[in-house]
Amino acid sequence: MNRDACAALDAADPLAPCRRHFLLPDGIIYLDGNSLGPLPRAVPGTLATMLNQQWGHDLIRSWNQHDWIGAPARVGAKIAPLVGAAAHEVLAVDTVSINIFKLLAAALAMRPGRRAIVSELGNFPTDLYMMQGLHALLPDLDLRMVPRDQVTRVLDQDVAVILLAHVHYKTAERWDMRAITHAAHAAGALALWDLSHSTGAVRVALREAGADFAVGCGYKFLNGGPGAPGFLFVADRHLAQVQNPLSGWLGHAAPFDFTDAYQPAADIRRMMCSSPSIIALTALEAALAAWDGVDTAAVEHKAGQLGDLFIHLTETHCAGLGLTLVSPRNPSTRGAHVSLAHDTAYPVMQALIEAGIIGDFRAPNLLRFGFPPLTTRFTDVFDAVQSLERILREGVFHAPRFSERALVT
Ligand SMILES: *Cc1c(COP(=O)(O)O)cnc(C)c1O
Repeated sequence: MNRDACAALDAADPLAPCRRHFLLPDGIIYLDGNSLGPLPRAVPGTLATMLNQQWGHDLIRSWNQHDWIGAPARVGAKIAPLVGAAAHEVLAVDTVSINIFKLLAAALAMRPGRRAIVSELGNFPTDLYMMQGLHALLPDLDLRMVPRDQVTRVLDQDVAVILLAHVHYKTAERWDMRAITHAAHAAGALALWDLSHSTGAVRVALREAGADFAVGCGYKFLNGGPGAPGFLFVADRHLAQVQNPLSGWLGHAAPFDFTDAYQPAADIRRMMCSSPSIIALTALEAALAAWDGVDTAAVEHKAGQLGDLFIHLTETHCAGLGLTLVSPRNPSTRGAHVSLAHDTAYPVMQALIEAGIIGDFRAPNLLRFGFPPLTTRFTDVFDAVQSLERILREGVFHAPRFSERALVT
């Protein structure tokens, strides 16, 4: 596969026009949109209007006049088609960690008498840490954090809920959501899916899979900006029973009655706690416009093609240079990123970044490359592998400056 062949793939790519929605700096190949999505062109102007007109001029009237109060449900409804949910099942609120806490506690309350939560060892740390925090509050809990191949084997009568990342943040391995959800249900347990690395990366079909709950991230493939609100999904059949343990005033049925006793809202808004950050939700809502009319099956198809191309090119151009593929070869069991192990991955990534190829390093030894289908071109993949080959062959990464660790990797 040469560069001309990659350019031909770009010319035929039905998602190629989506790239125009983003402000991407010249001279950079950005392969880290799975960690912080790039800035959508619509965001700065929309934010300026929100700040100057809505906050600056209309002041507190904006909660009604500009429907600030409706933002979490309105933005949630815009995310719903990207995860195969109905509009009223999704709320843009809080962060992934907080939403995990809320939904794990809610799931436990829906399975009285069951004490176990099942998750995968090596899952994204915050998912496991939130389980551990809940355990400190509820000492009777039984946390079953097991290797990936044992997840379905430890399902029994005591399991209340399983918490899994649909696409693994390091390896990009993708669970069969429908099969695992069915296995959980067969044991009488509920399934909570973390969609942080799959929303906007592959096709997600929560309703089709029968999922009970899900959480997802606003600042990765959805491009909502650093620290953007996350989202949560509650299946329609659970909306009447689900209890929010963070029973703040905005989850109340009538927050502005200011009554003493908590009474949950009848719909998904019961999963709110506090006043939503309207600045952050405004940015996320503007960013979501880039997804208007985008078919997630096409997104998944292109993610698979980009990953396959990257694997093929690294294996042909960088053979013998110390790289080992840790992501699945089969695109139907992979997300939209690919990770390669290398003994000195940190300095190699720093050298790549200096050369204008931005991916990231994941401890202890992974080079991670994200291929968000709306912005990544096939020629970007080609050019990135050329730089990687040069850096490895010439030993550029041995320069001492590449080994200085920054706080955020
Ligand atoms: C990115 C990510 C998170 C982020 O959590 P926040 O609380 O929103 O910072 C959580 N889980 C997974 C699997 C992630 O990839």
